[in-house]
Amino acid sequence: MDFGLVGEVTRRLIELPNSITCIDTGYIRPQLASCYLIQQDGAAGIIETGTGNSLATILAVLKYKKIPVENVHFVMPTHVHLDHAGGAGHLMQELPNAKLVVHPRGARHMVDPSKLWQGASAVYGEQAMQRMYGEILPIDESRLIIVDDGQVLDLSGRPLLFIDTPGHARHHYSIYDEQSKGFFTGDTFGMSYKELASAELPFIMPTTSPVQFDPDAWYLTLRRYLEYKPERMFLTHYSMVEDVETLAADLRRRIESYVDIALSCEDSENRVELMKSKIKDLTFAELRESKCPLPMSASKGLLEMDIDINVQGLEVWLNRK
Ligand SMILES: [Zn+2]
Repeated sequence: MDFGLVGEVTRRLIELPNSITCIDTGYIRPQLASCYLIQQDGAAGIIETGTGNSLATILAVLKYKKIPVENVHFVMPTHVHLDHAGGAGHLMQELPNAKLVVHPRGARHMVDPSKLWQGASAVYGEQAMQRMYGEILPIDESRLIIVDDGQVLDLSGRPLLFIDTPGHARHHYSIYDEQSKGFFTGDTFGMSYKELASAELPFIMPTTSPVQFDPDAWYLTLRRYLEYKPERMFLTHYSMVEDVETLAADLRRRIESYVDIALSCEDSENRVELMKSKIKDLTFAELRESKCPLPMSASKGLLEMDIDINVQGLEVWLNRK
């Protein structure tokens, strides 16, 4: 791909209000995973990093927007899963003044990513790893800012509030940006692919990937989001959604259904297969009900990998519980 061509850059961007740009990180297929550029008075921050394969795209966007690499102050992966933080090491090498903002539970994995690699290999298989994620580079400890719950960082006069948001993962923070009245939610407000949205409402789905799914913590996190009365959520999978209260209720209900399904299969012999078939039935029934514009066969193709990964996460949860 030639990033010298402006069209190649712009077709990967969704320009949002309040100087926020959603960037397609090119993970697996178009509009599956994003990162965000947030600009304020000449300074910039990048939320999520994509994978090791996303670097060229992010650098091309900075160049296209005439943002010198020196002006990027913060790189902020919401958690250390590799589609969110896998590219952090590559990016930090190119951004001389940036600090990597990380959750206390994720920090050591950014300094020594070997466990991350092993963990992801267990989910995706060693073969797919190189192709999906490229290389994962360590980051020097001196470049980290480890943020506690409630900490605020100042992006050139724009306060960014970090809150601890467990449920999908224990090493997950979310960022509240007062200016846009929006949260950058990583995976904790679920996923919502553009292709599945009806004319009235996006379709939101749980992200129960291994290994730290925790439904009770998640319900509290959803309540906590709503305390800020956010008007929009910036999802990594994929881009901005509004109708926050409705979607929070949809997401909560679907997490509860996942839990019910997992518990109902607990004592079955082939419970992984059984959970998979029940989650599929549930998802496609709800998609039909929500007037999803995509033909069912296409939706199935789109969600196959996510449902697989969600069921793997439920299986880990059942074993841990
Ligand atoms: Zn994740």
